[in-house]
Amino acid sequence: MSRIYNFSSGPAMLPTWVLERAQKELLEYKDTGQSVMEMSHRSPEYMEIHARCQNSIRELLGISDDYHVFFVQGGASLQFSMIPMNLAENKVLIVNTGEWTKKAYTEHIKIVPTEIIADSEPDSFSYIPHVTEDMVDQTADYLYICQNNTIFGTAYPQLPQSGKVPLVADLSSMICSEPMDIDKYGLIFAGTQKNMGTAGVCVVILRKDMLKPKNDKLPTMLNYYTYIENDSLFNTPPTYAIYLSDLVCRWIREEIGGLENMKKLNNDKAALLYEYLDVSDFFRNPVNKEDRSMMNVTFVSPSTELDKLFIKEAAAAGFINLAGHRLVGGMRASIYNAMPSEGIKALVEFMKDFEVNHG
Ligand SMILES: *Cc1c(COP(=O)(O)O)cnc(C)c1O
Repeated sequence: MSRIYNFSSGPAMLPTWVLERAQKELLEYKDTGQSVMEMSHRSPEYMEIHARCQNSIRELLGISDDYHVFFVQGGASLQFSMIPMNLAENKVLIVNTGEWTKKAYTEHIKIVPTEIIADSEPDSFSYIPHVTEDMVDQTADYLYICQNNTIFGTAYPQLPQSGKVPLVADLSSMICSEPMDIDKYGLIFAGTQKNMGTAGVCVVILRKDMLKPKNDKLPTMLNYYTYIENDSLFNTPPTYAIYLSDLVCRWIREEIGGLENMKKLNNDKAALLYEYLDVSDFFRNPVNKEDRSMMNVTFVSPSTELDKLFIKEAAAAGFINLAGHRLVGGMRASIYNAMPSEGIKALVEFMKDFEVNHG
């Protein structure tokens, strides 16, 4: 058996520990005589997994009782609509830092007046705009950001100053990669297929005081109350995806030793790549240094022809999914929690050789 270095932006690599654990429990979970996939979502065995996953997320991220934690299907993308449906009454502010905020804006504007208060699109989303309190209309329902921009490889070096206006953040590509100060947010959401599991579930962490009175006109499955009042078990939840997310959280706690250690590992991994990109005369990282993402490292060679050749030769050498997003081209190495540092060291060696041969 061999495991390839997969730099996919998501679904992405899972820790070997998690896959092996899932494999061990695949035919029979504990002594139930069945796989988690086959279990009734109302069975005591599954209910235990469900509660444990919520607890694992709470413990790992340090989430207090001021917050609800629940599981929704429809990906991170459905939250672009559900958030304004449930939390907006007056107006919403948004910082435009890439494709994912553009998509969030497209959905928001259908539901509530939405204003872009800062925008790095004119500079090809190569930086994170600095947001100060005077830019934030204090009557807004919330300020929406994407904290790590998966496609462009940027991340907020610090959170915007929004005054009394709560922050709503898309953390799909960075959740569980470092410790977070949850109390700074009104709502956090993340599709789990990048950094904390597999496709099929979106984790929503909502400060209780953000909820408006229950609006029975909302479609049941689009109403946060449905998930909160029924503990994410109103209908069948994505049981296996929830089971896997719990394993990922436990891997971080038990094997890595928590989010401080996870951050150090991720920092060191990203530094290996960025340090090489900074000295290379051939490859270059196109984003503002302070705003570099620790999770998604973008780079280009001197020409699109060489980019294509690099992606092809890298794949043949066992480094797959290094092509940049179809909208931006170039290359992107997504190096989430599960990517081992050996994978990055090997990639940098490969890049050095490519530079010698084609530079
Ligand atoms: C991948 C991604 C999404 C979309 O996630 P889906 O689960 O496919 O809807 C949204 N936001 C960010 C930041 C992402 O990286």
